[in-house]
Amino acid sequence: MYDYLIVGSGLFGSVFAYEASKRGKKCFLIDKRNHTGGNVYTESLEDINVHKYGAHIFHTNNKEIWDYVNRFAEFNRYTNSPIANYKGEIYNLPFNMNTFNKLWGVIRPEEAKKIIEEQKQAAGIKAPKNLEEQAISLVGTDLYEKLIKGYTEKQWGRSAKQLPAFIIKRLPVRFTYDNNYFNDRYQGIPNGGYNVIIEKMLEGIDVRLSVDFFKHREELEQLAKKVVFTGMIDQYYDYKYGVLEYRSLHFKTKVVEETDNYQGNAVVNYTDKETPYTRIIEHKHLEFGTQAKTVITEEYPKEWKPGDEPYYPINDAKNNEIYKKYKQLADQEADVIFGGRLATYKYYDMHQVIGAALAAVSKEFAETAPDFTGPP
Ligand code: FAD
Repeated sequence: MYDYLIVGSGLFGSVFAYEASKRGKKCFLIDKRNHTGGNVYTESLEDINVHKYGAHIFHTNNKEIWDYVNRFAEFNRYTNSPIANYKGEIYNLPFNMNTFNKLWGVIRPEEAKKIIEEQKQAAGIKAPKNLEEQAISLVGTDLYEKLIKGYTEKQWGRSAKQLPAFIIKRLPVRFTYDNNYFNDRYQGIPNGGYNVIIEKMLEGIDVRLSVDFFKHREELEQLAKKVVFTGMIDQYYDYKYGVLEYRSLHFKTKVVEETDNYQGNAVVNYTDKETPYTRIIEHKHLEFGTQAKTVITEEYPKEWKPGDEPYYPINDAKNNEIYKKYKQLADQEADVIFGGRLATYKYYDMHQVIGAALAAVSKEFAETAPDFTGPP
């Protein structure tokens, strides 16, 4: 008899399995995919680690989490500095002095602030009614038209005028010449890819792949005293309160033979409306690769329907209401721990899901944990 049946080998399931087995518990981990790691899994193509489920850049402000992941792998010095391609014009992201210089020819921060302020005033928006008005009221018309509108409309598959204002709460604008996307103290990519971390976490643990919990539920539940469930919570309860909705993505990955350097940067966002994908990832640049060929992935946003890969939860009022009902059921379960992005219907960055798993471990083993949830 196992102590825990862990459903899902993403970061939540893997951290839980590692910590529980360190405490002498017997774990049995299953995943319906044919590999471990969940969405952080990388696949080797032309000797390049390809981020199969979208580019994953680790970043955190929390020293405990940073020290924790560094126990499993060494991290490189990768700094996320995406660029935007708007109809052939290149701009630095996040919005900073390099972006403003390219847009308006301004050199000093005061000049950039003045233009943004003038555009906000000219738009005269007092109470934004939709995403378009919200974005213009935050950063003015030029940044909105060239760098926000097309990208956001592709991402959500709707006009910015039909999207609610709350989707964009704030738009970070930086008045320094700093292209580092994240403000966090620590960031990087694990040498050898995230698989190195997952493999170390799962060393010595019984793992079975290509097993869907729902196809063998009864027999699986009998194998362990408790279940750690990281799949979709609505499916766990047979969708009795309705289906929780997501946005999905479609990835087109290609080996480029003709060149060893396709776009000169790991992440290039296409911010016009016409290009059908939102961004192209060139994987080798995440690891400063020097391979002879290169591999790129075009990322296409996609409407989600049941059966598709669920990527981003749609946390609007309707879905949050449904989730609340499932959560009430989950809170009553004595022998099931729900965790990770699908079981809590929440977008988590990697450091946050690791923090959540470590917090679940502390709760389960009645220990006082260091502050792993930390600043976001
Ligand atoms: P998952 O990784 O999804 O793991 C859940 C696992 O459960 C999966 O392997 C699944 O196959 C399995 N499973 C589900 N149902 C069943 C079932 N019925 N039976 C058996 N197995 C099942 N975070 C960052 O910090 N930086 C980034 O740059 C970043 N980029 C991202 C880009 C994209 C496109 C997306 C979608 C996310 C990104 N994230 C990023 C977030 C990151 O992917 C998550 O924080 C992390 O993967 C969550 O881990 P998890 O264990 O909760 O879920």
